[in-house]
Amino acid sequence: MVDLKELFGSKMFGRREMKKRLPPEVYEDLMLTVENGEPLKSATANAIAEEMKNWAISLGATHYTHWFQPMTGITAEKHESFIEPDKDGGIILSFSGKNLIKGEPDASSFPSGGLRATFEARGYTAWDPTSFAFVKDDTLYIPTCFFSYDGSLLDKKTPLLKSCEALNTQAMRILKLFGNEDVKKTVVNVGSEQEYFLVDKDVAAKRPDLMLCGRTLIGAKPPKGQEMDDHYYAAINHRVSEYMKDLDRQLWEYGVYAKTKHNEVAPGQHELAPVYTEVNLATDQNQLTMEVMKSVAATHGMVCLLHEKPFKAVNGSGKHNNWSIATDTGVNLLDPGKTPHENLQFLTFLVATISAVDEYQDLLRASVSGAGNDHRLGANEAPPAIISIFLGDQLTSLLEAIENDMEFHAEGKKVMELGVHTLPKFKRDTTDRNRTSPFAFTGNKFEFRMVGSSASIASPNIVLNTALADVLKNFADELETAPDFKAALLKILVRNIKEHKRIIFNGNNYSEEWKSEAKARGLCDLKTTVDAVPAYVAPKNVALFTRHGVFNKTELVSRCDILLENYYKTLNIECMTLKSMLSNHIIPTCFRLEKELCGLVLNKKQLDHSAKREKWYLDTVSSATGKLLDSVFDLDRMLEEAAPLLTYEKAKYYRNNIFAKMEEIREVSDKLETLFPKDEWPFPTYTDLLYSVR
Ligand code: ADP
Ligand code: MG
Repeated sequence: MVDLKELFGSKMFGRREMKKRLPPEVYEDLMLTVENGEPLKSATANAIAEEMKNWAISLGATHYTHWFQPMTGITAEKHESFIEPDKDGGIILSFSGKNLIKGEPDASSFPSGGLRATFEARGYTAWDPTSFAFVKDDTLYIPTCFFSYDGSLLDKKTPLLKSCEALNTQAMRILKLFGNEDVKKTVVNVGSEQEYFLVDKDVAAKRPDLMLCGRTLIGAKPPKGQEMDDHYYAAINHRVSEYMKDLDRQLWEYGVYAKTKHNEVAPGQHELAPVYTEVNLATDQNQLTMEVMKSVAATHGMVCLLHEKPFKAVNGSGKHNNWSIATDTGVNLLDPGKTPHENLQFLTFLVATISAVDEYQDLLRASVSGAGNDHRLGANEAPPAIISIFLGDQLTSLLEAIENDMEFHAEGKKVMELGVHTLPKFKRDTTDRNRTSPFAFTGNKFEFRMVGSSASIASPNIVLNTALADVLKNFADELETAPDFKAALLKILVRNIKEHKRIIFNGNNYSEEWKSEAKARGLCDLKTTVDAVPAYVAPKNVALFTRHGVFNKTELVSRCDILLENYYKTLNIECMTLKSMLSNHIIPTCFRLEKELCGLVLNKKQLDHSAKREKWYLDTVSSATGKLLDSVFDLDRMLEEAAPLLTYEKAKYYRNNIFAKMEEIREVSDKLETLFPKDEWPFPTYTDLLYSVR
């Protein structure tokens, strides 16, 4: 029997371990840094480093690494052993406070979007004491921030921490105005549901597209997909179940609150959701979860696919980002309270969030963009590319009542009369959840459903936090000087509801009518990464981030560049992979089949038959092969044309020409596949792949 309590966090240097190992004054000092952001004394750092090292060695660690989150979207690590030579030709095991706090990895090969000139390749990593170190394999992992010599941000963690700080500053101003004297701090809580696919390793290994691009570039629709709804929540087969057990166990050891697991909609698709936690930790833990998902799959003879759209015929994968803000006294500010007073505070944060999402919808869309997610958003399985908020009927009519100074009725009863001197009173909404909404209020949190399964959750949370900070700042600026707080607040709420209610939509987000309705409302419909990413450098958004000290303009320009570069590089890899699958596998195989069919037709003719059907077969294969061959030349020409273009133009060219051509090729190839003798088609089919884990 596993002792779950013992197992949980057994490889994490968390508070339990620190309390046990660190002298009380050292622990207290560290908490001052963690809770209040006070600088860490070097004696404290040394004492922590020593104990961290002893603890890690007791778990078999021989190395340590500064673990960071560069703009690749995945994590980076360079391992250093604890070994130092001693005077007698032996070794001592050493790890100082300085080793803990600061690292200097060569940063020249990480994407910087031109931020770091090549002559200054040094990057710095700095320990993030608000997250937890852990031991994986033989290495002590230390979560760190990553920046350049001049302090420019090169990672996703640092701006996330800054956005939390910005939101805390503004939220505290509002909470003070409500008289919350006991609250010292607010935190953002996030729970991210992670979807993934499992494919047998031997089958996947025969698909260069899966191995190199993480998704299939061709593949005919299988006879059976997800139409029977028989995979969602279905009984978990033995092999997957063994995998999930191993995954849970490892995640628990690292202190990740893995909670829910189930089969998802598509065959071969599954989900894991953790219990929500503070956003910085949730982000680290989601990165770790994705890594462990892959490594555990390898030990079970499987490949874990985190791509947003590994297979065309069935649902893709996303990552629902459940987001809320709470006080250090345990009050969820997005939870309707028990008293009218608490409800007014809730309404303030609710309306502020609505305003923030409407005002910065373009940024929020940009924060979830990427070549992979372009296949998902707007494809009637995931939210559309248009951002809107689902509030449910009760809250929507409450906001209407506030806006129009009308009476509010809940559950048939007259619950409150609104006006300057009366306050709303209502209970938590119980309306059905709307699965099609990109940003849904689900009782006490917002669920942002546009995040891609392979993406770091840092970017969308940076945008959410900073945007909300900004709206709260405007509220606080006005309220702090208002003679009558409640009257002023109601005025602000009414004004914000009026200005931003266009973002609220409780209907079906997949419908065609919504697209035209959204257009009429003036909402953004940024269909692809190329359309969305430039939002990062729109003047109003640069102003937002600089106002709150999250990014400066240069950093935003560089991020925009990195994202666009990443987009066309991804498409370039896909294009090269597809070309090779065609030229080295499919086309030669087609020629062989053509030869065989030619012989067949000739033979039949000699027997004085018309060979009509055989000829049709031959013509069909011939014409498809011809089209594929032409396409390879087309792709070559396009790649040449794209080569000299600058970043934005290049990204656009890849989308308009190369991506479009690849879709065309796929159609021809997929038709061909259905005609081919199974054993002669050079790649495993969708049936082979989707049902490979048995
Ligand atoms: P569903 O699939 O029905 O949306 P799940 O249980 O799969 O629900 O996931 C819900 C996620 O939301 C979990 O990660 C959960 O911890 C998280 N969550 C619950 N309450 C909050 C909250 N107040 N703030 C942030 N996340 C939350
Ligand atoms: Mg779920």
